[in-house]
Amino acid sequence: MSGRSLAHLSTIAVKEVKGLSGKRGSDLADAGVESVADLLLHVPRRYIDRSTQVALRNVPVGEEVTVIGKVQKVSSRRVKGRMVIVDAEISDGTASLHSVWFNQAFRARQLSEGAEVALSGKVERFRGRLQMKSPVVDVLASTTESLITGRVVPIHPGVGSASPGYLRRAIHNALGRSRPIEDPLPIDLRDRLDLIERDRAIDTVHFPDSMADLAPARRRLVFDEFFRLQVALALNKARNEENEIGVSHDLDGLLVDRFVKGLPYELTGAQRRSIEEIRKDLGAGHPMHRLLHGEVGSGKTVVAVATLLTGVQGGFQGAVMAPTEVLAEQHFLSIGDLIVSAGLAPRPEEGRSTAVSLFDEVRDEGDDDPDRPEIRIGLLTGNSAEVNFRGRGETSREELLAWAAGGEIDLLIGTHALIQEGVHFAKLGVAVVDEQHRFGVHQRVGLKEKGDGLDPDLLIMTATPIPRTLSMTLYGGLDVSTLDEMPPGRAPIKTWTETSDGLDRVYKTIRSEVDRGRQAYVVCPLVEDSAKIEAASAVAEHARLQEVFPDLAVGLLHGQMRPRDKDAAMASFRSGEMDVLVATTVIEVGIDVPNATVMVIEDADRFGLSQLHQLRGRVGRGEFSSQCVLVADSTTDDGAARITAMVNTSDGFELAEEDLRIRGQGTIFGARQSGVTDLRIGDILRDFQELNDARREAFDLVGGDPELHTNLAIKAEVKALLADAVEWLFIS
Ligand code: ADP
Ligand code: MG
Repeated sequence: MSGRSLAHLSTIAVKEVKGLSGKRGSDLADAGVESVADLLLHVPRRYIDRSTQVALRNVPVGEEVTVIGKVQKVSSRRVKGRMVIVDAEISDGTASLHSVWFNQAFRARQLSEGAEVALSGKVERFRGRLQMKSPVVDVLASTTESLITGRVVPIHPGVGSASPGYLRRAIHNALGRSRPIEDPLPIDLRDRLDLIERDRAIDTVHFPDSMADLAPARRRLVFDEFFRLQVALALNKARNEENEIGVSHDLDGLLVDRFVKGLPYELTGAQRRSIEEIRKDLGAGHPMHRLLHGEVGSGKTVVAVATLLTGVQGGFQGAVMAPTEVLAEQHFLSIGDLIVSAGLAPRPEEGRSTAVSLFDEVRDEGDDDPDRPEIRIGLLTGNSAEVNFRGRGETSREELLAWAAGGEIDLLIGTHALIQEGVHFAKLGVAVVDEQHRFGVHQRVGLKEKGDGLDPDLLIMTATPIPRTLSMTLYGGLDVSTLDEMPPGRAPIKTWTETSDGLDRVYKTIRSEVDRGRQAYVVCPLVEDSAKIEAASAVAEHARLQEVFPDLAVGLLHGQMRPRDKDAAMASFRSGEMDVLVATTVIEVGIDVPNATVMVIEDADRFGLSQLHQLRGRVGRGEFSSQCVLVADSTTDDGAARITAMVNTSDGFELAEEDLRIRGQGTIFGARQSGVTDLRIGDILRDFQELNDARREAFDLVGGDPELHTNLAIKAEVKALLADAVEWLFIS
């Protein structure tokens, strides 16, 4: 074999590279550029094309340009005691330019006399001289280095003490010792997709001869990056499908049929299709890993219950994990309601406003009459334990855990309390994770591990619409069902904006809706990283609104309240006793009160798009037409863009694409904490075609060779470069 493979280069520490043995190397390693392979994939953030440079003499005054020249002299001075001013004189032989920076003392160190630099900014003429104020600086060559022979100068992203100039030299060294770099892609694939060789691509991306060479080089590296990820996902999926320790569930039991027939409405086509897709997975011997993806209000709960009951009808248990106590409680109540109204559990006693039933009878283990089923549901959160049977609502945690471990509970619903130590299931067959974006990877795995030897089927639900591009990378190994159809009869939600001067109009709207018997939410400003301050602002807003509406029942809900008080507030809002609920974002997900028709979001520009969309989804859930008022004063560009997007569309997928555009993929991946999706080169929006190609090729390749026996080089590379992400990979 000639040449080095990236897999091999990933075993050589970056500190081995000439020039990087000291602090620069450790700074790189700390930032994730740990090996020579990482270094070679640390591509320039931009290029300066010297062949198109304008001579200083001809530079257009008043325009933004990049000029190149040598530093003639640098000086720094301090004025008014504090401010530091750095002046520099640049010349390219045709003319000279004066540039000045304020309070950027480091410029004096960055610029040394004789260094070749590129300055980007607006050129002005001042007292007859050319001048730039605070230009962006790229040092092309300091006096000691002279690696700029080509016409195009790469500017690598600096990392700590490793400046672009240093990196350029180090990468040049590393490349010299690594080339030729082996190409693991089969030639027919490369030909088919018109991809250039890897060796040439890596060399060109760092040191192009001309700007025109860049596009094919970058395209090859983008493809490689997506391809590695997709091969990993495909391998993972193939492995999962061979795993036969999953449960083949009983598809012919009576519960699901009865449940569906007992619903007060017809399923939508999308619900029917999703239930059918899930049913196939549940019947198969390998465990399901499916994402149920559906707009807010599209009716995911029913699909989840059908899934859970498929497990229960074969004698297994089901679990539902929700991200907040309020949501877990609500699932407990609404799943309870659905089950009772389908006749799968006795009706709660008269006078109880919720489905928390008080049964006198204890179900006898021997009397398992399928014609008179009784689904026993438990609720476990950090603070409460409840059941819908055994003559009681509330119970002790110990008792509840004993029932779960003994198989006396069919469905256990809860928060992450479910994955704590001490929680055991007798026979966990199906696990549902709701609003999964709120959970970390470990928590998802944690729930599956409660199967104790069984590998339960996993349904992951999310109402945060995920652009297809993103789901292909984030959830590329999951099967996906989509609820792309809303239940009929939903009135559209009117969204409008108001400044804080216009609050009277907002209050008028609330009042007129309440007069009609409807209810309203008022969501208080988001306070990042401080639930306490957020709660305090909600308390203050609650007091204020009680004065605005002295005759209405105005309630309060925030994360710092005692669970009992939270429950009471939710119960009172649900029952319609409370007119207006002042809340923090604890109500963001899952809350379902169809009588609520007004959602007021204060300081709306401070929320993210998906959060705004989730909040708006709390209204418009019934037959009444609803409104969402976004209150915002002067705001940032991004804030304004989000508000405009909200007013313009109610389509969650469109909003998600817009969100990706506004925020960029980095933040989204960051928030989702999965190393594997930490793309360095590719951009899932811009490089969608490459992403698609990579996915198709990867799944084809693995489909024909699930262990990649005939493509060991690819397998080795995926393992080597995605090693950190392995844990993530094995579950999704
Ligand atoms: P989400 O997908 O946001 O979790 P839910 O499961 O909470 O949505 O359902 C939203 C509302 O729609 C609930 O009040 C539910 O009873 C109702 N619903 C669900 N499916 C249907 C249907 N097929 N027809 C009519 N209403 C439905
Ligand atoms: Mg829901």
